[in-house]
This record gives sequence, structure tokens and C-alpha cells, in this order.
Amino acid sequence: MSDASGDAGGTDATDDADGTGTEDGTTTGPVRNTGYDEWLDAVADGEGYALTCPNGHASLPPRRVCPDCGAADLSETTLPAAGTVETFTVVHVGTPAFADETPYVTAIADFGPVRLTGLVRGIDPEAEADAEERAGPGTGAPETGAPETGAAAEEQGDPEPRIGDPVEASVERRPNGDRTLVFDPVEVDPIEE
Ligand SMILES: [Zn+2]
Repeated sequence: MSDASGDAGGTDATDDADGTGTEDGTTTGPVRNTGYDEWLDAVADGEGYALTCPNGHASLPPRRVCPDCGAADLSETTLPAAGTVETFTVVHVGTPAFADETPYVTAIADFGPVRLTGLVRGIDPEAEADAEERAGPGTGAPETGAPETGAAAEEQGDPEPRIGDPVEASVERRPNGDRTLVFDPVEVDPIEE
């Protein structure tokens, strides 16, 4: 007859007299992925950078050597404030961390020396789904001859980004605490220094 007697009072090794019972769920960054995490900090501050080697190859943290040529002396090159959408994917079946957000759009954006991958904000992928449902399958000919009022459509939020759209990189915190790179559409300021 084994009773569960050794369960509660058996902490013989550690004396908890100094009150270690305060464990709230908020920790201050338990495991920082040094390198990439710092890079996200920089992006969040609008100071994103790429690592460049003396031979002109660019990469993203974390890196110790250039992935192209192995050069070890990498320096930071400031990224432009805005990049342009190079390609994108509408994701309908997301990973568990993003399952609540489907459909969503990820894009690769050209930021000069490097390309970044992130979630695209400022669009409405579900608008596309609605349009498809309304149109129905196999209707090839649009019947409405109404001229396109592009301005009005953009107010609603496009269902997809367009190749070449200018975007700004920023950082979003996920419900699970992770941070992820996101792209916000921007209007490029023609006056730049
Ligand atoms: Zn290199």
C-alpha cells in the first residue's frame, strides 16, 4: 500500500526560504536567438540592416561568415526604408501558429542588398475569396461593363499585393510570443536623402 506521502514535503535539496514562488508568465525574453532577434529589434526600430562582406555579398543575421564566399569580416549595411514586392504567396492552410489568420499572404520583398520574407499587411485576402464565390465557376466573360474605379477599390484593400508594390518592413508579435517580420504597404516619398 504505497501512499503518496513523499510528494509534498520532499524538497530536501532546495530551501525555498527566499520566496521563489513568484512566477508570473511574463518573462523578459528567456531564450534570445542572438543575431536574428537583435536584427528584428533593429527592424522594429526602422533600422534594418544586412550583413555584407568585402566582396559585396549580402546576407541576413545570424551569420558569422559570408554564406557566398566565407569571408569572416562582415559589416552592417543599412537597408532602405522601403523595399518592393518581388513575389508573394497566398496561404490558405497555415502552420499552427498562423492557423487563425488564413488566408494570409507572405511575400518576398527586394530590399536592395537582400530580400526579406514576411507577412503582408494592409491587404484583404478574403476579399479575393468573396469575389471568387460571387463569380462562380467557369464564368469567363464579365458582364458588367462598368469602368474600373481603381481608387475606390484600393480604399477597400486589395486582396493581394502587386509585384513592385513598395512595402516597409516591421515586426509583429504573435499571440504565442514569437515575433515575425511583416510588410506594410507604403507610399514612397519621392524626396529622399
Ligand atoms: Zn562574400
